[in-house]
Amino acid sequence: MEKLRNFINGEYVAPIEGKYLDKLSPVTGKKIYELPASTEIDVVKAIQAAQNAFEDWSALKAAERSRILNRVADIIDRRADELAEAESRDVGKTLELAKKLDMPRAALNFRFFASAIMHKQEMATDMDGEAINYVLRQPVGVAGLISPWNLPLYLLSWKIAPALACGNTVVCKPSEFTSKTAFLLGEILNEAGVPKGVCNIVLGQGDPAGSYLVQHPGVPLISFTGGTATGEKIQKLAAPGVKKLSLELGGKNATIIMKDVDIAKIIPSIARASFLNQGEICLCGSKILVQDDIYEEFCTQLAKYVDNMVVGDPMDPKTFMGPIVSKTQYDKVLGMLEIAKKDGGKIIAGGVVPELPGELSGGYFLRPTLIKELTNCSEIHQTEIFGPVVTINSFKYAHEAVKWANNSPYGLSASVWTKNLNQAHKIAADLRVGTVWVNTWLQRDLRVPFGGSKASGLGREGGDLSIDFYTETKTVCIQLK
Ligand code: NDP
Repeated sequence: MEKLRNFINGEYVAPIEGKYLDKLSPVTGKKIYELPASTEIDVVKAIQAAQNAFEDWSALKAAERSRILNRVADIIDRRADELAEAESRDVGKTLELAKKLDMPRAALNFRFFASAIMHKQEMATDMDGEAINYVLRQPVGVAGLISPWNLPLYLLSWKIAPALACGNTVVCKPSEFTSKTAFLLGEILNEAGVPKGVCNIVLGQGDPAGSYLVQHPGVPLISFTGGTATGEKIQKLAAPGVKKLSLELGGKNATIIMKDVDIAKIIPSIARASFLNQGEICLCGSKILVQDDIYEEFCTQLAKYVDNMVVGDPMDPKTFMGPIVSKTQYDKVLGMLEIAKKDGGKIIAGGVVPELPGELSGGYFLRPTLIKELTNCSEIHQTEIFGPVVTINSFKYAHEAVKWANNSPYGLSASVWTKNLNQAHKIAADLRVGTVWVNTWLQRDLRVPFGGSKASGLGREGGDLSIDFYTETKTVCIQLK
């Protein structure tokens, strides 16, 4: 059985206490490899390596850091098929999605920030000839980067790339459920010429490995993507020492559909926004709201489309949805389905575990599920499910849809579907979320701010905002007279 190792100071090393965790395949439920159950001692080693590497890496010219990060991107591209297969096996996402979405984006993250640091300009001001001010932007130190299981390399590279581009060194703690591509990244970093200790990867559980990383006084910056409950814990753990903190957390995102849409045209996009990656994307629209004139027709057409979506082996190109990532997440999603039924929800598509042949019968599969007639006070509408379970309700006026969408502890994103752009502008302005898509979904420009309001996060990353976050800004004022 393959045993993954930590990547510390440019070398693969076994966990010091010699303990491992089992990784189970979401497709079969069987063990596929072991990963280190890293403890505080492993994290300390990684932090020491990052601290030792900091001076040289931060002193390197931006053009040199950029050149190395571009090489990382090139190697990810070259190894994209192998990485995509590893990602698909770990998460249960389809191989096609890993090839089309995850790997190109992981490479782009490195390329984007390799380029961004070459273009960054800083402010200078003249105080009527008496003095001038200029701004220096400097790396923060060792960054602690903690990422979730749904888009493993995509989200980890969204943190590593800007952190390294800005001259920081890093210690990463990927999800214990999906460690393989982070493990392979070590080889890529070495081949690209990333110096020893600049990027360290410690595998294992959130507690102890992640929580120790957050608390360590030698780590002044934490970037975390994951669930809101974990984000709250991290915020408390990071408070002593007043660390720089970015939290990208959960969502319960509304999909608002106005009566003027072309139903048949948008159905595939709505189904994709609901169920891509098994509904395990923080931005998935899990709460569909349809204007009442077209509600019944929309439900019928969407349910028919969803019923035809193929669930099965993620390696099969015909499959749209693979299994849910882990038994824990599977049980949570099935539990939410039971609550929906008790709360009076009417299942109009899915809601059943598909019968699949052979080894797939041990996997964590669920048909994509649409639920009608659940009131907004049902727990289902207030809690992030993070799986292929979506509700669909009607509204009469746009302001009711906005009220329904905003009546949530979360505020990550929403999408609005209409031919009336004036109406779209008004709804977009009224929604209390970090991103609103109009007649599209998951279209991401890496230059624009990304993050959530309310319980969906703290701070924004993307473009200049990532560079702001991963650097300290210093103002120098010089008297001239
Ligand atoms: P979790 O919050 O469970 O875990 C995220 C990461 O934090 C994992 O690496 C986990 O370790 C680690 N962790 C857990 N406990 C601690 C702790 N006490 N201290 C430090 N680290 C800890 O999230 P999931 O992995 O289940 O991911 C799903 C969640 O992520 C959803 O809520 C989703 O909405 C959110 N998400 C948000 C995004 C955004 O951009 N806003 C994007 C993608 C996902 P381990 O699991 O290995 O034990």
